[in-house]
Amino acid sequence: MQELKEKILEEGFVLPGNILKVDSFLNHQIDPQMSYAMGKEFARRFANDKIDRVVTLESSGIAIALTTAHELGVKMVFARKAKSELMKEEAYISKVHSFTKKVTNEIYVLRKFLPAGENILLIDDFLADGNAAFGLFDIVEQAGCKVAGIGIAVEKSFQNGAKRITEAGYRLESLARIKSLDDCKITFAED
Ligand code: 5GP
Repeated sequence: MQELKEKILEEGFVLPGNILKVDSFLNHQIDPQMSYAMGKEFARRFANDKIDRVVTLESSGIAIALTTAHELGVKMVFARKAKSELMKEEAYISKVHSFTKKVTNEIYVLRKFLPAGENILLIDDFLADGNAAFGLFDIVEQAGCKVAGIGIAVEKSFQNGAKRITEAGYRLESLARIKSLDDCKITFAED
């Protein structure tokens, strides 16, 4: 998605450890126009998939999951990072190791917000090693729902996530694919 790539080049910067910061429009301050453009693009790519619900993980996936769900005319649910003991009867729970924070969080979605049999589109801001994605796949499948695919704003193609997801047979749609952040320089993969 050309508009997103230009925005990343204009406003993004690279931190040591292969971290791309895009706080000015995606991870802290939110640019509503850009979020709507991304939502529209995800919705276009999954327009023929009869999506019942969009699911993401708090917090940075929420804005783009919301605009995608709005465009598709369906509800959006975000998995929460668990802070307390949850009853297994009430929630689907999985574990996700955070690439940026280096901690493992339990994430959950209340069962009442993920009815069995639905076709689910997953959305997230970044794809690195794929841990967040596999936590979300786990929750959706525990619920007896189908994963229609996963839409990612920024895929770091030099890490393992994209390969793991496609090898596991899931559909992956990334709006910007980054080949390298070496020497703190952003290089995109060819479309
Ligand atoms: P994964 O679970 O695929 O290893 O990492 C994905 C999660 O880590 C994303 O949801 C995002 O929050 C965070 N993340 C991974 N790499 C980056 C990065 O380069 N920049 C930012 N801002 N977040 C990242």
